[in-house]
Amino acid sequence: MFDALSARFAKTFGGLRAKGKISSSDIESVIEEIKSALLEADVAQEVIDLFTDRIQSQSAALLPTLQAGSNQAQAIFDVVNSELISILGSEARRIRFSKNPPTVLMLAGLQGAGKTTLAAKLAKFYKDQGNTPLLVAADLQRPNAVTQLQVLGQQIDVPVFAPEQGNGSGNAVQVARDGVAFAQSKLYNMVIVDTAGRLGVDDELMDEAIAIRNQIKPDEILFVIDAMIGQSAINTARAFEQGVGFDGLVLTKLDGDARGGAALSITEIIKRPIMFVSTGEKISDFDLFYPDRMASRILGLGDVATLAEQAKKALNPETSAKLEEKFARGDDFTLEDFLEQLEAMAKMGSMGKLLSMLPGAASMKKQIENFDESEITRTKAIVQSMTPHERRDIKVLNGTRRSRIARGSGRAVSEVNSLVERFSAAQKAMKQMRSGNVPAGMPAAMGDMRSAKPAVAHKKKSKSGNPAKRAAEERE
Ligand code: GDP
Repeated sequence: MFDALSARFAKTFGGLRAKGKISSSDIESVIEEIKSALLEADVAQEVIDLFTDRIQSQSAALLPTLQAGSNQAQAIFDVVNSELISILGSEARRIRFSKNPPTVLMLAGLQGAGKTTLAAKLAKFYKDQGNTPLLVAADLQRPNAVTQLQVLGQQIDVPVFAPEQGNGSGNAVQVARDGVAFAQSKLYNMVIVDTAGRLGVDDELMDEAIAIRNQIKPDEILFVIDAMIGQSAINTARAFEQGVGFDGLVLTKLDGDARGGAALSITEIIKRPIMFVSTGEKISDFDLFYPDRMASRILGLGDVATLAEQAKKALNPETSAKLEEKFARGDDFTLEDFLEQLEAMAKMGSMGKLLSMLPGAASMKKQIENFDESEITRTKAIVQSMTPHERRDIKVLNGTRRSRIARGSGRAVSEVNSLVERFSAAQKAMKQMRSGNVPAGMPAAMGDMRSAKPAVAHKKKSKSGNPAKRAAEERE
């Protein structure tokens, strides 16, 4: 997501940080670089002008006040960060729940924007928070849209109101109205209405959307836009705003990098907040939109806040507590524990996505792309082919057992050997750390940990032979 843009920002500010004292001509060249990076990312020209004008005037005012020796580059970076957050909408905006349930959400947008997929993602997200959503299949145009929603509903265990098969026939306004009435009578607290798009903006599409809106009076209309369509995203958003109108935006397909900048310009131009983003086809590829976190990603600082949230969700607190206890007791970290960790990681999503949230990820783009996701699956298969006893004590893994495990997991014996060797080295390293010794190859920063224990041991050894002196030493 915005990797190319992040890499350009990182390079620009890397150059600025290398200078001790910053002049106004340095700022000018930074602004030129920002302009060209944003243009390349397909951000709308009017937004680029507004953004860089604001940076220019704020930096010009700030520069004379910056003390020599202070971190001037950081001060300029902060200006860019706060302006970027402002362009992206400043505050995160969330769904407003109706005081009289059900809260009705209506999705609008072109065909293929990702509305049906999003309907299911929203339903899952709100269901996980304790709500009781109902999906309404009112896209009666796109072939298979109704069936697609039914399949997704089944997958996430959310009911779908679908009295019509669609595929070009049926009355979408009536389906939407009956769906909301059904939700009311059955006490669902939320209704998500999927509507039909068309290949381009036309009167038929807009008239149907307006008729549905007038009939069901949604609490929120969410306009769903494919971020990959480039500059035409802005014109489409304008047409929907002037037609059916909408309260918030959802950007989809942000996993494709190419032209997402256009979609980021919409908030500034249309004055509507981005509320959610979709970053893939899977139900879990979905996030709330936070302007500050997005700015942080674009500027190459990563998105550690989201990463931490996902880790918290994926890691079972009981498992973590159990592991901590084991570590404190001095028990070995076993392949059984390792398997639990691998499973928790799998719940957090793809490794590539996790790594891309780390600061500086843009400059590791190649390595992240080349990360072999199936390595984790292969490792899991090997561990799963072991008996519980073998997982707890790898010392029992003789040649016969290893070839049985290789056969069971469909991997080569050499792969089993390599996993066992690496795991055994990791176990040793952990033992050494626990005993206060830093294993060879650990970073120098860990040297402090190394000094703690031997110091105590040394004190004990130097006890004086003189009883009075020894008592004084012990009191100390
Ligand atoms: P609709 O016509 O607006 O209902 O669009 P769909 O929900 O059917 O989505 C159109 C296509 O885009 C489908 O193949 C989806 O799987 C895919 N899709 C939806 N959201 C995303 C996304 O965030 N990333 C990617 N890569 N594909 C998506």
